[in-house]
Amino acid sequence: MHPFIKDLKAKLKKKKLKGLAVDVDDTLARTGDFWIKGLMEKFGNPEGLSVEEVQQKYRYSYYAPYWSGKEVRAWEKQVRHDDRLHRDFPLIKNANHIVNQIHQIIPVVVYLTARSKSVMPGTRVWLKKYGFPQAEVAYRTPGVKLPESLSWKAKVLEYLYPQVIGMVDDHPQLAKDLSKNYQGVLFLYDYPDQAPRSDINIVPCKNWQAVLEKVRRLA
Ligand SMILES: [Mg+2]
Repeated sequence: MHPFIKDLKAKLKKKKLKGLAVDVDDTLARTGDFWIKGLMEKFGNPEGLSVEEVQQKYRYSYYAPYWSGKEVRAWEKQVRHDDRLHRDFPLIKNANHIVNQIHQIIPVVVYLTARSKSVMPGTRVWLKKYGFPQAEVAYRTPGVKLPESLSWKAKVLEYLYPQVIGMVDDHPQLAKDLSKNYQGVLFLYDYPDQAPRSDINIVPCKNWQAVLEKVRRLA
């Protein structure tokens, strides 16, 4: 495990903190909307879909077959490292208020994100701007490539147990990448369907209100 993550675990342990990890993109911030709008403007919208329709059909812009190739990837890379931009992403409505309510029941101890270190200043400003509970921010460690970010996150999450007893994240791939030995709980945000697997504790939540209710039940 990366020394940065080891330090984080030691820090939580020392402070006797036990709580939740929360993802940022498409869980707290409407990052996906920005990506889709940007891709439409730069590279066209071959199916003539609205942003919502793209999300319904593909969930994430990178699953749309036509937004691929070198130029698209280069644009995405530049956006991904634009710290300025990460201060201004729109908030998912009420995510901040509900996360604060959850924090009173089970504390949020870390924001665990696949963002890179280059956008951490903007990320911290953004979290503060919307009044999210203060907690550590763990970013994708150097050497982990973006396509492996969810399997990386799964490993980190398992490593941080039991200091981190669960996570709220929007990506169903994270549910798939967790090992069958994972003892924590994954609240799968914005996921109205059945859990993608049942051998570990995956809790689908269609919105933040549902996350709050399910956290209450867990506590
Ligand atoms: Mg996410």
